[in-house]
Amino acid sequence: MSERAKKIAFKGQVSHRHEANPLLSEPGAAVLVHRGVARAIAMACPDGCGEQLTINLDERAGPAWRHYVGETTVSLFPSVWRDTGCGSHFIVWRSKIYWCDWHDEFEAPSDDIMKRTLQLLTDRFASYVTMADQLGLVPWAVLSACNRLCRRGVAEPGTGKQQGQFRRKATA
Ligand SMILES: [Zn+2]
Repeated sequence: MSERAKKIAFKGQVSHRHEANPLLSEPGAAVLVHRGVARAIAMACPDGCGEQLTINLDERAGPAWRHYVGETTVSLFPSVWRDTGCGSHFIVWRSKIYWCDWHDEFEAPSDDIMKRTLQLLTDRFASYVTMADQLGLVPWAVLSACNRLCRRGVAEPGTGKQQGQFRRKATA
């Protein structure tokens, strides 16, 4: 099996999807297709299978991923899961690629994000996506914070229908 990329290699911006093709030379290479608004991210599949992915960012064109562009990094939400071909399933957060089948551990969020996430938790379950919107953060950052707070014993995760939700853990 070929090498899986651990990072997005951002190759810049084009106006039309086909212009991205020659730039997608290595696994994880990505190009923003921007025409008036962000349309899509074209990417060479990061697992090295040689296929190209088009990740839609434009709600008018169908189900769209949210994208968060930092000074030097890009994040996508939700995860990218190919339902054809290689079946790759990965998360892009701050240009790092986290492989879902490897259960890659998220990098630690800053102390500030940990603190703000904890402050937002109540005794009622709330979705990490909703909390991220309230805090103006990338959902992966809040998920990472929630997972860490659970391990510290101060938060607990929902199960079943409440999967993806967290609440403050009741103290005895
Ligand atoms: Zn692939």
